[in-house]
Amino acid sequence: MKLDAKVLRYMSAEDFRVLTAVEMGSKNHEVVPSPLVTQIAQLRHGGGHKIMSELARRNLVAKVQHIKYDGYRLTYGGYDYLALKTFCHRDSVYSVGNQIGVGKESDIYIVANEEERQMVLKIQRLGRVSFRTIKSKRDYLKNRKSASWMYMSKLAAMKEYAFMKVLHENGFPVPEPIDQNRHCIVMELIDAFPLRQITEVANPGKLYSELMNMIVKLANYGLIHGDFNEFNILVRDNGEPVLIDFPQMVSTDHPNAEYYFNRDVECIRVFFKRRFQYESLLYPKFRLDTERQFDLDVQVAASGFTKKQQQELEQFQEEEKKLAEELGEDALGDSDDDEEGSEEEDSEEEDDEEEDDEEEDGNEEGAAEGGQGSEEVS
Ligand code: ADP
Ligand code: MG
Repeated sequence: MKLDAKVLRYMSAEDFRVLTAVEMGSKNHEVVPSPLVTQIAQLRHGGGHKIMSELARRNLVAKVQHIKYDGYRLTYGGYDYLALKTFCHRDSVYSVGNQIGVGKESDIYIVANEEERQMVLKIQRLGRVSFRTIKSKRDYLKNRKSASWMYMSKLAAMKEYAFMKVLHENGFPVPEPIDQNRHCIVMELIDAFPLRQITEVANPGKLYSELMNMIVKLANYGLIHGDFNEFNILVRDNGEPVLIDFPQMVSTDHPNAEYYFNRDVECIRVFFKRRFQYESLLYPKFRLDTERQFDLDVQVAASGFTKKQQQELEQFQEEEKKLAEELGEDALGDSDDDEEGSEEEDSEEEDDEEEDDEEEDGNEEGAAEGGQGSEEVS
């Protein structure tokens, strides 16, 4: 799905009230009944229905025929809008530029503040797998309790921000976290290529050791990245690695900690062998080489992202993984992401495929010229 900054510009105070009302209503209602929206929005001059239809036309909400009543639900477009609006109010974002990535579970944009500092906006899109599947596996979702995409995406953003903050404060090479709201985070733009796109490095052995040391240092601080691979390691021109992408991090207290640790180590070994023909007998082992000295996971919990939230998110992520495995790689391969499986909406599937191709080789170009064609948000 595209983030349409133009849509964001033309929004009256009343539109905004109604959109906010739909969001508030969705806390207790899967489909928010129209009268409830009107009631929450408390429009002085009425006209709620007209506004709701207009918001639906702009894909910020979707009209849904519920079994018992008709109503609306917030779309990702609407949720994006509300988050961006908040960033604008806090002066952290002023304009939205190019999209530089579309992942399985996120969209990445270049944004800028009023001083024209370029930054990265990461929008979490959890539930792409299950909501796509809704078409073929309705039963599955019926049985699933209340795993709303909105809530899970918000948890993922909260988690990523909390971890990034704690890692940054403790001197790990990660982007500086700047702001977080709803399912979005704003962070420092790193001027670097993902390791995946790098064909040659001056000294593979040095980079290899740095990465392994990073895995060990994380574990000594009580953490395992959980997705430590060539996509999530950016390498600066001077060879310095920067680690990104934290929604799946786990504590070294996790029952499967050793498995996750070894998998991270193995990712790097396999990649270095394949890409740089570099192999080393030396690689860290969880039991032998890590010794927990600090409790960053405790700091994370203290930062407002609670253990309970962490568990809720983990459970959802595991369900998604299982579902993806059941469905085979196809379920994850392309990135058509129709809005939460709602059939009323026309999605832009063809467009998304093009973006997918761009992602492989066009990432950094996007980053370099991110300011161009940007749209002011408010
Ligand atoms: P996902 O969860 O979808 O994998 P990532 O956080 O890994 O999302 O980001 C996807 C891609 O976006 C990365 O591989 C990288 O190319 C780019 N990217 C993400 N964050 C930054 C950043 N702070 N600076 C520069 N590029 C970034
Ligand atoms: Mg990633």
